[in-house]
Amino acid sequence: MEAARFRGELGARVYASRLLGRDTSLVLHGGGNTSVKIGDILHVKGSGSDLAVVDEGAFAPLHLECVKRVLARERLDNVEMMRLLDACLARRPAPKPSIETLLHAALPFRYVEHTHADTVLAVVNTEDGERIAADLYGELAPLVPYHHSGVELASACRAVLSARGTQRTIGLVLRFHGIVAFGDSARASYENMIRLVTIAEDYLKAKGAWELNSAAQPLPRIDRMALAALRAAASRAAGFPLVMRTERDPLCIAFTRRDDLRTVSQQGPATPQHAVFTKRLPQVGRDVDAFERGYRDYLRRTLGSAADARLDSAPRIVLDAVFGLCALGVNAEYAHIAAECYRHDIEIIVRASAHDVYRAAPERAIAQAELEYGGFERALRERVSRDQPLLGQVALIAPAAHRVQPELPQQLLAQGAAVSVIGGPQETGGIARPAFCMVPDNIEAALDQTVAACGGLDRLYAEPVDEPWVNAVAPLLALSPVAGGIMRSAHQRQTFAQNRP
Ligand SMILES: [Zn+2]
Repeated sequence: MEAARFRGELGARVYASRLLGRDTSLVLHGGGNTSVKIGDILHVKGSGSDLAVVDEGAFAPLHLECVKRVLARERLDNVEMMRLLDACLARRPAPKPSIETLLHAALPFRYVEHTHADTVLAVVNTEDGERIAADLYGELAPLVPYHHSGVELASACRAVLSARGTQRTIGLVLRFHGIVAFGDSARASYENMIRLVTIAEDYLKAKGAWELNSAAQPLPRIDRMALAALRAAASRAAGFPLVMRTERDPLCIAFTRRDDLRTVSQQGPATPQHAVFTKRLPQVGRDVDAFERGYRDYLRRTLGSAADARLDSAPRIVLDAVFGLCALGVNAEYAHIAAECYRHDIEIIVRASAHDVYRAAPERAIAQAELEYGGFERALRERVSRDQPLLGQVALIAPAAHRVQPELPQQLLAQGAAVSVIGGPQETGGIARPAFCMVPDNIEAALDQTVAACGGLDRLYAEPVDEPWVNAVAPLLALSPVAGGIMRSAHQRQTFAQNRP
């Protein structure tokens, strides 16, 4: 039993956290957080760490009384809050405490779990969500209206709990955000979370809103030049190269073909955390200029000039009836995360629309979340600019180039590129990550698949560089947002030099 490996109260906290973290319908990519109070210390999950793989070291220990004093502040921006929480740490070094630390401190229960459960959001992120939540959960989990994470949300949770909590209360529903459960033991707290989520699932089933349309739809062939043009336009809007992955399974295709797509997709994300990777709204169709204008207007009316230097105006999600779902990111990993977050939003929107009308948090609230966390891409680019000069670029390695330089894929991955290799997995040691893909040994298919997985082509490694390759890749390279081109491997240059008379 895995549980036997985790000792004591913090060990039990770790074990139950991993159970929650493994379920992607509950938490995604650093979302969600858990805590336990042991004596006068609050152990809360560190910011950004993944619940599925947390260990004891991933929890920040804080003096509970100190955190409660922070909570007593009436108004507090999150920068100041994090500074004050840092001063409450009981041990150093320690992970940076979760942005929801005050929420955990505000609830007078030993164990607390917070997730962004899809099923709960599909029930309460609706026009009539307040009434539905009251009917469905009542005193078991009273509804907390939307508040920004930090002191506002923590105070609202405490107020709702003291006004409407009873002996039967096992959690709180956070409108447009997620859910909280608590208990005296790790097991009770975890089981309360599952119970609240199951109630939502049963409700959706009873309303005929559970099944997702997964019927295969006819898929027109994609013109890879059109995809590459979209990625080029988005990269220009961002000011740096973006990787773009395209997903065309039945769920995504059916969503992009909904008659009401321009309404349901323009409400906002199911939970603010998704906006960190997807931005508030997806682009519908292929007009990046129009998206940019709309995005700049939105930032101006919600944040004034505060966001100008920190957020670029390129889309991270594009919905198109032919392409399907296109997800963009500063590298292949982030494009993958954006796609995954948006797929969960699609499921939530589809289910919410099947029993009511989907709604999300006010745009100002999402803009604030984008500003507070969304600058991470710029920070990442600055941090890795020296080690990863190829960040956001796409490279394709033809078989001969790979044979003379087998380590080339790893070298390019290490420099930040997304890499496609023509050939069998045995030749590449079976590297499995979003930044790496194997493509067939056929020029047309290799280029189609590379563009579908990464959005375009910036560098081709081929030798000899023969005419069919040059002709096939020239139009794609012409769309590249960077000065790439056809590369010759270092190895070949070396051999050439050695053989010179
Ligand atoms: Zn949250």
